[in-house]
Amino acid sequence: MERKNAWKTYNDSEKEQLQSLNADYIDFLSECKTERECISETVKRAKKKGYISLEEAIANNKKLKQGDKVYAVCMNKTIALFNIGKEPLEKGMNILGAHVDSPRMDVKQNPLYENEGMAYLDTHYYGGIKKYQWVTLPLAIHGVIVKKDGTTVNVNIGEKPEDPVFCVTDLLIHLAANQMEKKAAKVVEGENLDILVGTIPLNDEEKEATKKGVLEILKEMYGMEEEDFMSAELEVVPAGRAREMGFDRSMIISYGQDDRVCAYTSLVAMLEMEKVDKTSCCLLVDKEEIGSVGATGMQSRFFENTVAELLNLFDDYSEIKLKRCLANSRMLSSDVNAAFDALYAEAFQKNSAIQLMCTCLVKRKDGKNTPGSTARNIFHIGIPCMLFFSLWSSLALLAVGLADHVFHYNIKNIADGIAVFQNLPGLIGVEMDFYQILVSSLDQKLCVVAVCELIVFRIN
Ligand SMILES: [Zn+2]
Repeated sequence: MERKNAWKTYNDSEKEQLQSLNADYIDFLSECKTERECISETVKRAKKKGYISLEEAIANNKKLKQGDKVYAVCMNKTIALFNIGKEPLEKGMNILGAHVDSPRMDVKQNPLYENEGMAYLDTHYYGGIKKYQWVTLPLAIHGVIVKKDGTTVNVNIGEKPEDPVFCVTDLLIHLAANQMEKKAAKVVEGENLDILVGTIPLNDEEKEATKKGVLEILKEMYGMEEEDFMSAELEVVPAGRAREMGFDRSMIISYGQDDRVCAYTSLVAMLEMEKVDKTSCCLLVDKEEIGSVGATGMQSRFFENTVAELLNLFDDYSEIKLKRCLANSRMLSSDVNAAFDALYAEAFQKNSAIQLMCTCLVKRKDGKNTPGSTARNIFHIGIPCMLFFSLWSSLALLAVGLADHVFHYNIKNIADGIAVFQNLPGLIGVEMDFYQILVSSLDQKLCVVAVCELIVFRIN
């Protein structure tokens, strides 16, 4: 199968369009480094486009009609946006799904300690990380502290040029003879991923003077006491903005592109949509990196409950209608995928791998005899391949994150994804790939109805 390089297919005006999308995408990546930040930015953008919150709709007993736009947020970490269509909800929705959590280090609940006069924050890692990539890297802390008095304070330190940053230390090369002999998984142990946060002792203090010095600063900055760490949610992420990469500026290097590239494109596509026949939904969820667990993960009842509330706003709720709505829905769930990397060619099956310049793939995980494996219905794959991905698409045998948790509703799901070099913490994607996935998301808004008709036609 011939794989065309997508750069060769764009005309000048498309390249200009790409540049402006790209600038907004870089801002999104730079300003939304946690799931909370992604959700609050999403709400901000949605409100500008006329979306109202589900709570507000319920409180006003709003009767929904075509063109109404509603969003529901789950614990500030997951969101579902709906653009109400002409058809009854029972007929199903067109859903775009992606996740907004990314691998990182989380600050533990009693984290601040002093060792040999230096103050550290104890962390544990979230999601799959190569631990050795996180040492000697400037780090920022993002999150929220709920204080004893019930007030909350947002934390975002390490991003402005004048901010201090933080770091996990590593051993100097001339002391590292033994370390260098270790396997990559053991070179840096998880317990050593604590971040160095201070070295100046507090005057007139004998015991733990440096730790006390840091606590003084935290009190001044955030009005917090040490016990407030118990109810704090602080995420440690690479500091700094997303950047263009390469002499030709053709790539983007950034933390968190898994899966914000798909979350961003799904969101932009959703917000561009005006009147639709079938209700459209954009679902941006948390906890995919650790198995979609918890109240804000795809395994929770949030989505199902929210759809039930929507039906209720039509005065049309019944359990059977809810089940029909979900079973009649189609979903395009997107996530990143490892791009073929010529420097690590032995790790790939070239014929099945996707390439950085050849746009999206459709992910397919076959029904092999392995736990958690789900067979994709080829009828759901074939049509979108033809319609969305005119350049090239690949069928890869993969696990597909949150999509694995919608099948029990019988939602017809296809999983698509963008190629990236998996060099966390700074994932590299190609601008054009990103544009193409946006085009595919936009296509979805315009043509999923058609796609679904065709699927139905073929199945019949
Ligand atoms: Zn992902």
